Amino acid sequence: MIETLLLNVLFLLFPVLIAVIFFENRLTNIDKYILITLASIALIFCMAFPFALEIGFIFDLRYIPFVIVALYGGYKMVFPLYIVLNGYRMLIGGEGIYQSLLFSTIIFIVVPLLSKKFMQQDAKGRVVYAMAVTFSTMAFYFFVLSFNYEQLMSDFWGLMTYALVIHMIVVALIMSLIEKVISNVKTREMYLRAERLKDISDLTASIAHEIRNPLTVTNGFLQLLSGSKTITPEEKQYLTFSLKELGRAEQIVSDFLAFSKPQSANMVYANLKDEIEYVENILSPYAKLNKVMIQVRFSNKSKLHYDKNQMTQCFINLFKNGIEAMREHGGTLLIDVSEQKKEIVIRIQDNGQGMTYEEVRQLGKPYYSTKKEGTGLGMLMVYSTIRNVKGKMTVDSELGKGTTFLISIPTERKHRQN
Ligand code: ADP
Ligand code: MG
Repeated sequence: MIETLLLNVLFLLFPVLIAVIFFENRLTNIDKYILITLASIALIFCMAFPFALEIGFIFDLRYIPFVIVALYGGYKMVFPLYIVLNGYRMLIGGEGIYQSLLFSTIIFIVVPLLSKKFMQQDAKGRVVYAMAVTFSTMAFYFFVLSFNYEQLMSDFWGLMTYALVIHMIVVALIMSLIEKVISNVKTREMYLRAERLKDISDLTASIAHEIRNPLTVTNGFLQLLSGSKTITPEEKQYLTFSLKELGRAEQIVSDFLAFSKPQSANMVYANLKDEIEYVENILSPYAKLNKVMIQVRFSNKSKLHYDKNQMTQCFINLFKNGIEAMREHGGTLLIDVSEQKKEIVIRIQDNGQGMTYEEVRQLGKPYYSTKKEGTGLGMLMVYSTIRNVKGKMTVDSELGKGTTFLISIPTERKHRQN
């Protein structure tokens, strides 16, 4: 008994293990099919080595991968499993084929409906959710079975309780592992991003400082020269062009300086209200032009130290991206700033074009832009500013549906340096 149980647990651990070992870095579309294949193999093995609880009654853990895949992937992902499950069940033959078909069809129809709600939970929530769903489906399964078996077996309900407990334990185990893998991947990505940012901000800040001085000097001399009376109008035009281009170079240098450390002259201790309002005001014409409504909900009272200019620029970048994501069909840019225990939480939500998983991963890479006129520096600066206040940002995006940026900044900081 115990051997079969462990064997079944091993079958279910196998896809998780393979995924961690071989595919952890690229959980993209292609690998989704590999994951489905692995889950199918696990499912077949579970069915091939069931436990015989008592003469005539057999059960296995096949619905665990089925329910988990249905919750994470919805109809599209679980459909192949549905085919595999029933195909293999036909192969095995014997009694109960129709019950199995009926039951798996019910799960196939009902469980993916819960997928959306499931994905909205946090890691712990998802573990509990999957356990609750497995509990309900298995309880329902045994309830239906009871009509056939109750008279046949002396201790039907005792055995069912046992089976249910096993299901719960195994689901909790597998789900915790899956969630841990997901969280590890995310943590590593955040870490990589932070490292990248650190190198860039160190380098750009020093270079930008160095370049700024010669630019200022050149600017001054060119201006003096353009005041001269001996130059021809044509020459004067050359000077105008030069000054204009120089202005652009200075702008770029200033943008790069924004990545650097906060400037002590700009530091304030406030609750972000002024910055949010300011950005809302200056972007409202741009929003109107793109048929976008900006809606702000502000309920934060806790204060923190930050560089006013950087924070303003950070919001400009985020709001602008939101508006630009909606420029085809218009929409609403929702900004919500609230306080939670020891944290300020800023949510910036648009219902624009959204991004794929791969695109979200690219965010914050220098020069990554999908826009014709884009610079791909906006998000880099956003990440840098949030890093400066020791905040965290998560991005939740769906292609065609929209994007939500969730920023949380701790208000109580022990390690402040400046
Ligand atoms: P830019 O706006 O100049 O392209 P950013 O660094 O601000 O550069 O953004 C990089 C890319 O990230 C954008 O080109 C866009 O593809 C994507 N992006 C950023 N924010 C959003 C959003 N709210 N919705 C959809 N895509 C976004
Ligand atoms: Mg931008």
